[in-house]
Amino acid sequence: MPNERFHVRVAKESFIFSCGHFITLDGNQCERLHGHNYRVGVEVEGPLDENHYVFDFLALRDRTLAITTELDHHMLIAMRNPLIPVVVTAKSVRVNFGDKEWIFPRGDCVLLEIENTTAELLAKWIAHRLIDDLRSRHFSPQILRLEVEENIGQSAVFHWTATDAF
Ligand SMILES: [Zn+2]
Repeated sequence: MPNERFHVRVAKESFIFSCGHFITLDGNQCERLHGHNYRVGVEVEGPLDENHYVFDFLALRDRTLAITTELDHHMLIAMRNPLIPVVVTAKSVRVNFGDKEWIFPRGDCVLLEIENTTAELLAKWIAHRLIDDLRSRHFSPQILRLEVEENIGQSAVFHWTATDAF
């Protein structure tokens, strides 16, 4: 039997999400606040269904777009970074790094349960949101790859394989 595998890929222009962020690095450095027009591409691998496709392109587009739209035009805050304590109130989000302090309106922020807002961890966060969403719709991909490009020619890919895939 031939070893055939299929995947579908969507990387729509509408997936672009514009966000502010900064990351910490090398244990004692912190980037200045800046932004990216992040681009997302997602690949889903699995067997062909009765329609002879892996997954409906339009459904995959819509589910991905719902997540990127949540992030678009927000400040991304990493909640698990020990170097940047975050204090959240009803109205504001206060972030500290050493002597630096930023205060953002609460509604302008997305609070992410990740260690740093690197492209790698953003890709992982979006991928898990998408996997949960797809599973709630009774579709369990075998493999999912999610790419986040933060600048032209500069991207990170998160590769996920279901534990019961093969
Ligand atoms: Zn950046």
